[in-house]
Amino acid sequence: MSTTRTAPTPLTGGDVKAPLRGVKGMNDILPPESARWEHFEAVVRGLMARYGYRNLRTPVVEPTALFVRGLGEVTDIVEKEMYSFEDRLNGDPLTLRPEHTAGILRAVIEHNALYGGPLRVWTMGPVFRHERPQKGRYRQFNQLDVEALGNKGPDVDAELILMLRALWRDLGLVEGRDIALEINSLGQADERQAHRAALVAYFEANAAHLDEDSQRRLHSNPLRILDTKNPAMQPLVEAAPTLIDFLGEASLAHFSAVRAVLDAAGLAYRVNPRLVRGLDYYNLTVFEWVTPHLGSQATVCGGGRYDTLIEQLGGKPAPGVGFGLGIERLLLLLEALGLQSPEVAPHAYAVVPDGATMPRVMPVLEALRAGGVAVVLHAGGGSMKTQFKRADASGARHALIFGADELARGEVAIKPLRDAAAVQTTRAIASAHTWAHELLKP
Ligand code: ATP
Ligand code: MG
Repeated sequence: MSTTRTAPTPLTGGDVKAPLRGVKGMNDILPPESARWEHFEAVVRGLMARYGYRNLRTPVVEPTALFVRGLGEVTDIVEKEMYSFEDRLNGDPLTLRPEHTAGILRAVIEHNALYGGPLRVWTMGPVFRHERPQKGRYRQFNQLDVEALGNKGPDVDAELILMLRALWRDLGLVEGRDIALEINSLGQADERQAHRAALVAYFEANAAHLDEDSQRRLHSNPLRILDTKNPAMQPLVEAAPTLIDFLGEASLAHFSAVRAVLDAAGLAYRVNPRLVRGLDYYNLTVFEWVTPHLGSQATVCGGGRYDTLIEQLGGKPAPGVGFGLGIERLLLLLEALGLQSPEVAPHAYAVVPDGATMPRVMPVLEALRAGGVAVVLHAGGGSMKTQFKRADASGARHALIFGADELARGEVAIKPLRDAAAVQTTRAIASAHTWAHELLKP
């Protein structure tokens, strides 16, 4: 079977003289700011290893249908935030992932990865949402996403939450003060159905006070009215029937089991009966970590249980629980609190007065690096004054001076840059591997 395809529209490079700018709401991360990211990523890797979570990576682009099915049609993300487009060459409907969970589940189902039993996985990377950019809200941002699949809970639910507390501590945040936990239970579908009926009746009785968005949602997704950010709607929302009063025994037992672990671990939290999360797929445990330091971008991390989502995406029924954490927001929080990531400075900076000596210098640097020493080479020559200025600015503890006199003796001079009391010494360049470790000392 053959389909007729029109040739794709030619692409253009625009006005060649005009400098190109990045896409609005999408950020570049340059050094030294990138050091904060590297530090965060290193902390996360350590944390995941300690809790037995393994790394899983999926493509940035997925079939659009995955998110429509996974997130629900009547969600902010699907309704108005997705970067969706047709593949120029074959017309396939594609979307830049707006979150990680759907893609992870698609991959797990596609590769039958739950075959051997429960699976704990994490991923980290960019996601895309077409929102109005502001501080803490971007169009490309990064999420750490963690999913525990195949466990009914409530043990893993509680463990995930405690893992986040451990993450805050690793980063120097104080829970309860800098970042606080809110939890709720969304029960099961039939319980939400009963609650939903009560909600619709309540909102219908107060229809005159609903804003436009809420009127539209009244019959399609009344629960989302509770998630409104419109301040004028708050009094109405505050007084609405709460789901917790509709939960049955099993749901309540799950919720108290989660709380019992958190209580025993000494983790304070607020039960927020209004916490519904933005997505349709959650049931039972839902939680958010919020901070008072980021204005209206207060939620750093949110997650919960989604026991029907895997089946909804075409997999064999299996429960799941997970969370997504906004890395930009978390780093903004660390910055707001003055929490610095450890300095990244090389151990040594190589000063090379005469570029013609490079063939003798470079093998020495290679030997030092093989021994674990971080050495920055002053490339391109320049006066000693300039080279020492750069050495200083690099933050290195030592300057390695490959002067003509030193090289004539088969040596390099080692000048301490941070310790005024320490004296300059020399070492043989032929045996760099034997003294490399001396440069590693703080
Ligand atoms: P919000 O209510 O702030 O829009 P959300 O409910 O849409 O958040 P989730 O889908 O739960 O957010 O995503 C998890 C986390 O990702 C959020 O808690 C937040 O830290 C971060 N996040 C969400 N949207 C953005 C964005 N546009 N820019 C930066 N971070 C974001
Ligand atoms: Mg949002």
